[in-house]
Amino acid sequence: MYRIGIDVGGTNIAMGVVDSELHIIKKNSIKTKEASEPEAMIAAIAQGVKDLMAKARITESEIESIGVGVPGTAELDTGRILYANNLGFEEVPFLPKLRTALGEPLGSRTFFDNDANAAAIGEYVAGKYNVPVFVMVTLGTGIGGGIIIGGKVLRGLNYAAAEFGHMSINIDGCDCNCGRKGCFEDYASATALTEMAKEAGMPEYTDGESFFAAVKDGDETANKVLDEFVYYLSEGLTNLINILQPDVLVLSGGITRAADLFLDKVRERVYRDVYSRSSAKNTEIRIASGIPDAGDVGIIGAALISE
Ligand SMILES: [Zn+2]
Repeated sequence: MYRIGIDVGGTNIAMGVVDSELHIIKKNSIKTKEASEPEAMIAAIAQGVKDLMAKARITESEIESIGVGVPGTAELDTGRILYANNLGFEEVPFLPKLRTALGEPLGSRTFFDNDANAAAIGEYVAGKYNVPVFVMVTLGTGIGGGIIIGGKVLRGLNYAAAEFGHMSINIDGCDCNCGRKGCFEDYASATALTEMAKEAGMPEYTDGESFFAAVKDGDETANKVLDEFVYYLSEGLTNLINILQPDVLVLSGGITRAADLFLDKVRERVYRDVYSRSSAKNTEIRIASGIPDAGDVGIIGAALISE
């Protein structure tokens, strides 16, 4: 049997067929901007699932479940996306409509969850962490997060827990699209890093890869920008550790492929500033490794959604 995982991101909707060993056997991708309205997105996802099944040569009867990770508040009891700032969705009856679009038997085997929760479950399961308190912080278009306590996702009373990205770290800071000022994701997401590089006069560095190549080459501006990014990232992570004191805090997202250029600096700042600095035990900060390719975390996490 197979599962299909669908990761709805601000840039791409990535989907894959996942086998019982949690390996992706076939993938597919749709540009989010080409299906940005709810109706168009749901139709594109349903078509994408059909294309993917054809590509992987599998039939409906071989699919155990379909899981969709969405970048916003997934209200599990109604199937609505309550709020997804990066998609501009509010109160969208996403799951019932997707189930209808997929038809039976696939519809009733389809589930959804917040994408960062899904990614955290994926990393926790695939990485066999098995610790009492586990936190994953995903640095992408925005910043998402998942908190797993005793093997269970902490969802909060309205399913909106762990929106780390909208913790303000600068109350006099820039306007966030959530309506507040100085949110963590406006300073420490992958997008924020690119923006900071642009503002520093590096318009040619439009993607993380070329930016980190410049850092490696010793480019002064790039290194200054990275230091600023490390400063903000460390502030946010220190807040999270002060509140939750997790056994493990995992960072994930495409830019963690360049973690050798910034992780030690982040650890240094966090361990210096965290309230528990004199404790014999402190949170282990590491890069997601349960799923070897960071790009697959969203798909595999989504595939593990099953409620
Ligand atoms: Zn915000």
